Amino acid sequence: MTDRWVLDQSAIPSAWFNIAPSLPEPLKPPLHPATGEPAGPEDLAPLFPMALIEQEMTPQEWIDIPGEVLDVLRIWRPTPLVRATRLEAALGTPAKIFFKDESVSPAGSHKPNTAVPQAFYNKAEGIPRLSTETGAGQWGSALSFAGSQYDLEVQVYMVAVSYKQKPYRRVLMETWGGSVVPSPSDLTDVGKAVLAENPDHPGSLGLAISEAIEDAVKREDTHYSLGSVLNHVILHQTVIGLEAKDQLRLAGIESPDVVIGACGGGSNLGGISLPFAKDRIEGADVRLLAVEPESCPTLTQGRYEYDFGDVAGMTPKLEMYTLGHDFVPPPIHAGGLRYHGDSPIISNLVKNGLMEAVAYPQGKVFEAAVQFARTEGLVPAPETSHAVRAAIDEALDAKEKGEERVILFNYSGHGLLDLSAYDDYLNGRLSD
Ligand SMILES: *Cc1c(COP(=O)(O)O)cnc(C)c1O
Repeated sequence: MTDRWVLDQSAIPSAWFNIAPSLPEPLKPPLHPATGEPAGPEDLAPLFPMALIEQEMTPQEWIDIPGEVLDVLRIWRPTPLVRATRLEAALGTPAKIFFKDESVSPAGSHKPNTAVPQAFYNKAEGIPRLSTETGAGQWGSALSFAGSQYDLEVQVYMVAVSYKQKPYRRVLMETWGGSVVPSPSDLTDVGKAVLAENPDHPGSLGLAISEAIEDAVKREDTHYSLGSVLNHVILHQTVIGLEAKDQLRLAGIESPDVVIGACGGGSNLGGISLPFAKDRIEGADVRLLAVEPESCPTLTQGRYEYDFGDVAGMTPKLEMYTLGHDFVPPPIHAGGLRYHGDSPIISNLVKNGLMEAVAYPQGKVFEAAVQFARTEGLVPAPETSHAVRAAIDEALDAKEKGEERVILFNYSGHGLLDLSAYDDYLNGRLSD
């Protein structure tokens, strides 16, 4: 029996899919942080190359992927679509569970799908250096890898507590040539001010973003790069869903019944689900499901309003679900899901009833992760395990109702650099 669909290298999508023109309620523009007026391209130019600013705002449905980007994506794309037959058997479900395996990239997650084009467009506009933030290190490692491909310097501000507790991703970033400092750092005014008050500050993602932005604004040779949330980032991730559609067709599936992704800022979820969101808007019977941690419940409990993306209020304000830009989530293991806001596109879909959201506590998430590891063999990242949990619950619900439901979820990354989290779970040290 075939349970794995692998496309030829030539079948990587040649264009990214933009959902913006199909949204029933149009996206609202970002607002300038100081004036509160809509931010134009010139306001974003100190941070991003013009090509990405255009992608951020474009009404075009398809954006061609440059050949130089495809050349690098080909290192690991197309990624496999796998049917989780062993998990299905263990659950005794009539449901069919498919997952798209984004863990096969060099950095072990979906994040290089956007790190590569972001590095490319900056290089093409003559920018030799990028600054960014990273929590657990997944985004920093993806951008460091991309920087190595286009010969760009990458400066990473890594949340201090992760810098101390998770040395391996730092080593990965440095192996690819990235420079990593713990945030708060003394490289920026924001960092210095925080350190003056508390030299042992554990840092946060919002604070690290403030430092990376300050770095980029102060230096002519440097742009800023963000790993999630923004429209152009979500756009780059749509290769996931576009490939999955082709692969499902090869597997004889016209349309899945439900498409699931873990949601931190919304990029891997958007990547797998947006091509299906278009079908849904046009009347197809496909459900889209965002999965978040109960301890950082942006979509299930946040407010829908304009908010800053960082702690210091330096980013443009975006209309999105938010827990407030000063919200400090508890230190759960799924570091990539600890963000106060969410992609405006994902937020828009949820608000308009086109996407559902569910939140899980950490213990239930790891229980699913271990069940997945012991059936399918793969050890998922703690973030990814949220999607695994939801896929299992969908399959159990289908069993109860006797439905042959087709479930597609995004396997956003592997957990082989997160084994201390598994150690905590297996030894009863995990808090919910
Ligand atoms: C970063 C990350 C996430 C969460 O980020 P999104 O932008 O919401 O996709 C999920 N899974 C993995 C493996 C990640 O590295």
